Amino acid sequence: MSVIWIVAENPDWAAVLVSAAKSVSADAKITVFTPSLPADGLWEDYTPALVAKAKAEKPSLILLGTSRRGRDLAARSAALLDAPCFSDAKNLALNGNAFTCDTNVYGGTAVRTDSTTEPLVLATIGPKTFEPDPAGVAGASVGTLEYSPGRTKVTGRKPRPPQTVNLGEATKVVAVGRGFSEEKDLAAAKELAAALGAEVACSRPIAEFFKWLPEECYIGISGQIIKPQLYVAVGISGQAQHTFGIRDAKVIVSVNKDAECLMHQHADYCITGEWQMVIPALIKAVKA
Ligand SMILES: Cc1cc2nc3c(=O)[nH]c(=O)nc-3n(C[C@H](O)[C@H](O)[C@H](O)COP(=O)(O)OP(=O)(O)OC[C@H]3O[C@@H](n4cnc5c(N)ncnc54)[C@H](O)[C@@H]3O)c2cc1C
Repeated sequence: MSVIWIVAENPDWAAVLVSAAKSVSADAKITVFTPSLPADGLWEDYTPALVAKAKAEKPSLILLGTSRRGRDLAARSAALLDAPCFSDAKNLALNGNAFTCDTNVYGGTAVRTDSTTEPLVLATIGPKTFEPDPAGVAGASVGTLEYSPGRTKVTGRKPRPPQTVNLGEATKVVAVGRGFSEEKDLAAAKELAAALGAEVACSRPIAEFFKWLPEECYIGISGQIIKPQLYVAVGISGQAQHTFGIRDAKVIVSVNKDAECLMHQHADYCITGEWQMVIPALIKAVKA
């Protein structure tokens, strides 16, 4: 039986990580740690406690979320434990004493399978990689981690502006890229999205450089990673940093004037043409 530890920021993450743990071994002995962070504390300050406990109690696998906090704690702990750490792992498996998992490489354009026989492995798991376990943490043991204050303190917090979209939950998304040369042109994409019942998203330059849409709207390796049923990319070239965010989209449609663009290579349906012609025709077709 494997001994698997889960370090989760909240019950939602814990339920996903329990699913991941059970995928490795149905009869795993699972312990869940959901430590409460002091108001002036940093998640990384759980590193000493996690490392000391792991050295003493020797779990075979420690799973954390791919959030900033999870990645930070995983990387620090793995370095101090001299253990391998797999980021954004999927298809986890334990065969005998060999732990195997897949990770995306080259910006998500390829998948690498790694295997290790190290006695302790750490892995971070994406929020959508496993369905949350319906039983949550029921059946798992509850562990505690002592908080050791570090030299850095949080001196203040301010709320983010409220999110205008929840792309993580969207089933249909229409995304715009630099094929749009003026902000007012986005109205056409918004109209298509409305006709489809889709959310509007974008490539990074549209949000970060032009500020035509909020930053939470951009898709990709440094933005949102989404899993919609339908993703319509309009005027997006399809660079690896962007397509990383849609690798699990079910159906991808690319609208681009360049027949050779990379996005067409990722798409299930390609429409080659100027969006100024294609979008009105799509809206008409959807409405019909
Ligand atoms: C470290 C790093 C991280 C990054 N992270 C991200 C990320 O998370 N997300 C992201 O999106 N990018 C990211 N990028 C940027 C990324 O490399 C690309 O530069 C960006 O995705 C390109 O955006 P785009 O496709 O909108 O623009 P472009 O590459 O300029 O493509 C515009 C496309 O529009 C087409 N087009 C032009 N006019 C029309 C028209 N009238 N009708 C139809 N098509 C038309 C063109 O043929 C072209 O294919 C990152 C880059 C780096 C270096």
